[in-house]
Amino acid sequence: MVEEPRPSKDNMEASSAITNYLGGEFVSPRHRGFLSNINPATGEEITTLPASTSDDIDDAVEAAHQAFPQWSSLGKEERAAYLTRIANLLERDQERFALAETIDTGKPLTLSRSVDIPRAISNLRFFASAITQWGSELYEGPGALHATVRPPLGVVSCISPWNLPLYLFTWKIAPALATGNCVVAKPSELTPTTAFLFSKLCQEAGLPPGVLNVVHGTGISTGAPLCKHPKVRAVSFTGGTATGTSIATAVADSLKKVSLELGGKNPAVIFADCDAEQAVATTLRSSFSNQGQICLCTSRLYVERPLFGRFVELLSQRASSLVIGDPLEASTHQGALISEAHLSKVESYISLGKEEGGEVITGGQRVQVSGRCERGSFLRPTIIVGLPPESRVNQEEIFGPVVTITPFDTEEEACSLANSTRYGLAATVWTNSYERAHRCARAIDSGLIWINSWMVRDLRVPFGGMKDSGLGREGGIDALRFFTETKSICFSANESF
Ligand code: NDP
Repeated sequence: MVEEPRPSKDNMEASSAITNYLGGEFVSPRHRGFLSNINPATGEEITTLPASTSDDIDDAVEAAHQAFPQWSSLGKEERAAYLTRIANLLERDQERFALAETIDTGKPLTLSRSVDIPRAISNLRFFASAITQWGSELYEGPGALHATVRPPLGVVSCISPWNLPLYLFTWKIAPALATGNCVVAKPSELTPTTAFLFSKLCQEAGLPPGVLNVVHGTGISTGAPLCKHPKVRAVSFTGGTATGTSIATAVADSLKKVSLELGGKNPAVIFADCDAEQAVATTLRSSFSNQGQICLCTSRLYVERPLFGRFVELLSQRASSLVIGDPLEASTHQGALISEAHLSKVESYISLGKEEGGEVITGGQRVQVSGRCERGSFLRPTIIVGLPPESRVNQEEIFGPVVTITPFDTEEEACSLANSTRYGLAATVWTNSYERAHRCARAIDSGLIWINSWMVRDLRVPFGGMKDSGLGREGGIDALRFFTETKSICFSANESF
């Protein structure tokens, strides 16, 4: 922790140190504590960010509380117009946002350009449109009309992780704002820059002060008091299962609404009758995109025995030929992991895999990148075979470029292996049999199941996990419902029963 903010050295986008955005103003934290923001590809400090405390949270919640009456009384079309204006500004600036995202996360610039920032723009546009299409319900009964209306909750909190920073930040705040709430958002302390730049766009778009407030800091000192604040009516959280559980416990006595999008240990079930080339190509992406740091990434591959040897060989060849290096280079497929601490954690699972009897057939080591990235946190994509299903490496979320491959003999065994962890977020099934695809999709306990594909998204589709992967659903109408109260009003022609 440092006492003075430091401006950016290598990130021309955050030319000043990152500040909080409260009540429409850019302000330092009340207690003048600052954290270092490190570029994981170079190991160097990018800038500093506020180490906010409960006093800053109080200020942010108060600003949101003051803004709520006016914002919630605007028409849906007016709120949608603000979101569209912000989306247009983001589109104008998408190249500098992509660069900032890459510098914060270490992910390839090609990925920030093609996925992170375009999806953030789509999130804003989608909910700007969705809110104008969302009608109230009317039920006609004998002698009565029952109307269901959905007013906003008030002040809500949105807490997002580091792996898809602006993508998940906007995925939460867009439906919250569209439905008429005022938001206090906390991005991850590891990836604050695009949320900071986004708050500048909100000011440029003329978003009324206090409607969106962005408070930076750690989970414990900033996130925890935000969740507990008595005026915060809902917590929309994406992150690890342990953090989600502690948030649910912390807010249990205040009966806030809670939406939890948590960890995963996602299986791919690959039958011998599938298009093996396509399965390998897509599984390469589903395993190692964003260095395996997407909650939807595949981490346990179960391959039917007749295909097992060929599949392992093909995937291994392709994984070994991925280019690991400077995220700013166009030729790079794999950038840096989010931090040195996270890289050490992922490495500890590779060591554990060996202790548990596994064989590392691809990767397993750090990569020394030369030049400006020589102090970066890079790891080779890693494939482990020979691990029992109950091993810790097959049970615990690693959240890095590490997958295990295990053979199976029957469909029942495959589905049972897919279901053998505490998680249930996303699964893929590869087969040319329509009937088998249907059976497996029903048998596998997972909030999302892709047949012969991965990460094909439609923003109307409910998104979220079963078991320890979460509580509630985001996306489409589920998100609009989460951020609103349900009020049913009866108009009766006959007062007597
Ligand atoms: P964390 O749970 O560590 O953190 C997520 C966010 O919560 C961060 O902003 C963090 O702040 C904050 N936070 C930490 N502790 C608290 C607390 N006690 N109270 C309130 N907020 C807190 O997750 P990661 O950032 O490490 O993200 C990786 C995890 O997220 C993986 O488990 C992954 O599976 C999951 N994830 C799930 C997704 C889904 O849709 N299901 C999508 C993407 C990721 P800070 O970073 O500053 O500590």
